[in-house]
Amino acid sequence: MKDSKEYIEVYGAREHNLKNINVKIPRNELVVITGLSGSGKSSLAFDTIFAEGQRRYIETFSAYARQFLGGLERPDVDKIDGLSPVIAIEQKTTSKNPRSTVGTVTELYDFLRLLFARVSDAYSLTSGKKLVSYTEEQILHAIQNNYKNEKVMLLAPVVRSRKGHYHELFVQMAKKGYGQARIDGEIRELEYNLKLDRYKTHDIDIVIDRWIIGEASSESRMEKSLSTALQMGDGIIGIQKLDSDHIEYFSRNLMDAESGHSLALPEPNTFSFNSPKGSCFYCKGLGTVKKVNTDYFVENPKLSINQGGLLPLEDIKSNKWILSQSKNILEIFGLSLSTPMKDIPKEALDYIYNGCHKEFNKDLKYAGVNKKIKISFDGLVPMINELIDDKDSYDAVLLERHFTTEENCPECKGTRLQPSSLSFKIADKNIAEVSAMSLSDFMVWLVEIEDQFSNKNKIIAHEILKELRTRLQFLLDVGLEYLSLSRSTRTLSGGESQRIRLATQIGSQLVNVLYILDEPSIGLHQRDNERLINSLKNLRDIGNSVLVVEHDKDMILEANEVLDVGPRAGKFGGEVLWQGKPADLLKADTITADYLTGKR
Ligand SMILES: [Zn+2]
Repeated sequence: MKDSKEYIEVYGAREHNLKNINVKIPRNELVVITGLSGSGKSSLAFDTIFAEGQRRYIETFSAYARQFLGGLERPDVDKIDGLSPVIAIEQKTTSKNPRSTVGTVTELYDFLRLLFARVSDAYSLTSGKKLVSYTEEQILHAIQNNYKNEKVMLLAPVVRSRKGHYHELFVQMAKKGYGQARIDGEIRELEYNLKLDRYKTHDIDIVIDRWIIGEASSESRMEKSLSTALQMGDGIIGIQKLDSDHIEYFSRNLMDAESGHSLALPEPNTFSFNSPKGSCFYCKGLGTVKKVNTDYFVENPKLSINQGGLLPLEDIKSNKWILSQSKNILEIFGLSLSTPMKDIPKEALDYIYNGCHKEFNKDLKYAGVNKKIKISFDGLVPMINELIDDKDSYDAVLLERHFTTEENCPECKGTRLQPSSLSFKIADKNIAEVSAMSLSDFMVWLVEIEDQFSNKNKIIAHEILKELRTRLQFLLDVGLEYLSLSRSTRTLSGGESQRIRLATQIGSQLVNVLYILDEPSIGLHQRDNERLINSLKNLRDIGNSVLVVEHDKDMILEANEVLDVGPRAGKFGGEVLWQGKPADLLKADTITADYLTGKR
């Protein structure tokens, strides 16, 4: 289906070196603008057509919003007709945000999180056993079956290995009518003056009810009491037989029945490194930490500390304490602040860098006496860490810039996620392991897991898997199969970022958009270039106009129409020399035609 206006019509374009030109560009086709570099092809595509599209887009905002955006300059052109909304896919790294990954910018990770929230199994971090969760009804049935004719207590765990005297808790519980609690393994009466040792850690379970399983009056209360206990115990209850010390716990959460280790049921945010529910506690989801690197401390080993040889001291304004402690440490070795850094032994440097809490006997030969030198110094490295953690001072900024390097987080090993998030697995793999796969392996995995799913999980996962595979295929189509979801976008080349944006745009299935790309074929191998061209045709075929600034021969020959801008660069360019079907360009008399036919 073609729009009523079949051309984008540009009249009187004079941006940069453009010579007041009129151009008609067919809509809903793949059009290449080619020409020497500097000939004016980008001035036409980006500085005229894209700039005008952007300007019109911003014009649609309210005056209020526009005052913040600032008006865009109208490009130097008389008129452009038939312009659709314009999206430029340029060669630049999309994001410097350290939290942005291939997975997040393509939204593939969002769908993967959803998949893990729906169909993963949880395994105990301690025993490796599969964890199970019960519904309230299942818990009730389990108690009725396992404890037939037994006298039992229903317990709600309210405190788990935490310090405090818990006086208020006991008063509150007694007021509610609860008479007993199991405190640190012992059943005790809840009296108003009950107080525990506030400096010790305690386990407290409130006795909610006593049942004789199978007896009518108990059975009639069970459902309500269980519900109350689950609420107080945050999804967990315990059952203890009257003649035994052993408690069996049941959980609405995921739980290892033996160790009592429990996990909350997973939700998509459990797997998000941008949510406190999922991110590593140590690196807050960055996957890396800044670490002080002592290799940067000394640049010129011939200088002494007094001469500025120990560089961090130059960044720390109040360094008197460090200097005095360094002086004491050096004195033990018979050295001083005037000793060149290269002559200070390793042991002394270790004390200065990493701290020392010792007393030394130092022979003062000249005085014939023993002097005691007491050192109590935490060390330069911990002090720098402390300053950087505060982040308030200018010192901190300098120290971080000069003396730290980025390293993989020691806690999450770079996975950005907390341990509990990694205990959920699909087909033996946690979400970090899946994210680290190459995109081509990821595709294989997505196909394989569906076969292993139970019928129930197949139904649950069906739509999510379909969405994942479709979006992933677009990335494979533009030749990015070697990337992984966990790859930080900061480390991508401009071309890779451009192709990710292209794949995401194809995935978005927008129609009636004018896409403008600059030299997307740069750096591509033959096979990937073919796939790129197919992706652009795909974008066109779903109902968009695609305008590509390009030198590449294959791209030119595959286009519906070619514009050759020239003849030369700068003021000797700026005109449309030739426009038509690529097959006809081969017969034309332009530099581009000569290049295509191999005459140049
Ligand atoms: Zn971490």
